[in-house]
Order: sequence, then structure tokens, then C-alpha cells
Amino acid sequence: MKNRLSLGFFPTPLHKLERLSGIYKPYEIYIKRDDQTGLASGGNKTRKLEYLLAEAIDFGYNAIVTTGAQQSNHCRQTAAACAVAGLECHLVLRGDEPGAPNGNLLLSRLLGAHIYFAGNTPPDEVMTEVSKKIRLDGRDPYIIPVGGSNKTGMRGYVDAIGELKLQQKAFGVNFDYVFFATSSGGTQAGMLLGKWKYGLNTKLMPVCVEKDDKTGPSLEEKVLSMCYEGCIREGLEKLYNPQDVGLIKEYGEAGYGVMTEGEKMAINELAKTEGILLDPVYTARAFFAMTDMMRQNLLEPKSKILFWHTGGLPAIFHYAEQLGKPRIDRFF
Ligand SMILES: *Cc1c(COP(=O)(O)O)cnc(C)c1O
Repeated sequence: MKNRLSLGFFPTPLHKLERLSGIYKPYEIYIKRDDQTGLASGGNKTRKLEYLLAEAIDFGYNAIVTTGAQQSNHCRQTAAACAVAGLECHLVLRGDEPGAPNGNLLLSRLLGAHIYFAGNTPPDEVMTEVSKKIRLDGRDPYIIPVGGSNKTGMRGYVDAIGELKLQQKAFGVNFDYVFFATSSGGTQAGMLLGKWKYGLNTKLMPVCVEKDDKTGPSLEEKVLSMCYEGCIREGLEKLYNPQDVGLIKEYGEAGYGVMTEGEKMAINELAKTEGILLDPVYTARAFFAMTDMMRQNLLEPKSKILFWHTGGLPAIFHYAEQLGKPRIDRFF
């Protein structure tokens, strides 16, 4: 019984952003590079998939079915992970098939996934249909929810906090804040549980990248229920309450995947000061929230701040037009 498959390179690097820290003095800013997990351009889903695919293999499943947006980083990393593990990969993507696939969609294709477009049908219904068909073909499908966020996937981020604890020790720092993007909640739930398990004395700053979904369970409820299930599994006795979730909601108002001036500013700022690329949907939103709060002096003076980069680079190519034409330097 193997409960974790090796799909990435861990620990991911952690380093100081010297030039950015110079701009936002006296804050000290560091970055954790989960954009460098190594799985087909990296990202936070790699940590979750190590547990999810191990579970699928343990239980004898031989096909994976999951879902997401057309530019889903989760789907792209799932396609890569399935290639590594020798499993069939089936992706149900929202909306209609676009003319020319780019960004993550292109990569998922190249990585060998079977791709279905849900059109106006709820993706969960399409996943059920696809699973039926896979069974008729004599294989056994294992269904992974959006973002790989469930009690199994979140374990990757419980471990990640243990990893961060060791890096803090090696660097001789204690971060006062950790900023990151939250969407399906598995990353956040894992960090929240890990924080308690490993005694991390840091304020988590989860930045919502979308508007509240008024239908179905709220993100708070999803995070709390994963934490609850995670505690049972780990034999930990801890009661979480809604205040522990602490979502930062004001930056998600434009809605999921809508790039505003804030995200553009964030992408340009980090690229030009540190040579590091953010994605338009998740990390740019979280990074903008962090710098905005620093500019407004909303964080404790002189604090040490960690930005947790969760990946997403391929999506940038889908936003090429909005990011503007690059400046061409004339040579005559
Ligand atoms: C999925 C994703 C997130 C959000 O993680 P969740 O666990 O779904 O909350 C953040 N950043 C990137 C780049 C992602 O792909």
C-alpha cells in the first residue's frame, strides 16, 4: 500500500525577493516556488495528485476522470500525472470547444488526455456519463473533484507546511504572513490543518480569486469540512470554526478568470523586479492583494511575508492580447 506517489521535486525552493523587498521596505518578502514542482510546468495540484493517484492505484482504478475550466491548471497537471502513472486521463471542461487550443488546454492535449466539452450541461453530469462509458469499455474510473480538493488531495498541503517549517528553520526566519490564492479550497484546508499539526506560528492570508458562489456550499464550508475529515484521519483533536478560515474576499469581485488592471500590474511588477512570472487567474490576484495591503499599511510594520506561488504559467498565453503587445526596441 503506497499512500503517496512521487510526481514532483520537493522541497520546492524558497527564497527572498530582494528587489521587491527594497520597494516595500520595511517589509521583507519571500517566495515559495510551487510553480517549480516540475510536473509539466508545475503548480500546486502536483502535491494533491501525489495522494490522489496513489489512492486510485491502491484501489485498482485504471482511468481518471476530472473537471475544470478550459484553462485549468489542475486538469493539465492531472494529464501529466496520469502519463507518469500510466493511467488513462479523461477531462471534462466547461463550455464549448474553442477554435485553436492554447495554454493549459493545448498542454493537456499534448499530455494525452481525452477531452470532453460540457457546453451548457453541468460538468458533474458529463463526468457521470463519461464514467459510464469508461465502465462499458471495461475500465474502472476514479473521479477527482474540481481542483483535486477533497480529504485525500489536501494531504499534499498538510505536508507542505511541514516542509515550510523546516525551511523556516534553515533560513532562521519566522513568517508573519503567508499569502496565497484560494479557489476550490484544498490548498487552504491542507495549510490550515498543517499549521496546527506542525505548530506554525503564521497568519494565513487566503485570497479568493472568485466571487461567492451563492449556490451550493460556500468556500468556508468546504474548507471546514475538509479540515474536519483531515483531523479524523490524522487522529488530531481540533475544532475549527468559521473565523479560522479568514478568507480575503475583496479582490475576487471581478469574477473567476477576469483579468483586471490589478492582475496586470502584479504580473508586470514581479516580472520586472524579480524575473518571476505570475498567472493572470490565481497568483496575480493573490500577489496584487498582498502588495495592495502593503501599500495601505494593513500589515504589521517590519513583518516577514511569504508569497506562496501556486503556479499557473501556461494560462498567461490565453491572455496574450489583453496583456498588450510587448514593447519592441528599435535598433536603427
Ligand atoms: C488551483 C489553483 C489555485 C487554488 O488552489 P485550490 O486548492 O483550488 O484552492 C491557486 N493557484 C493556482 C495557479 C491554481 O491552479
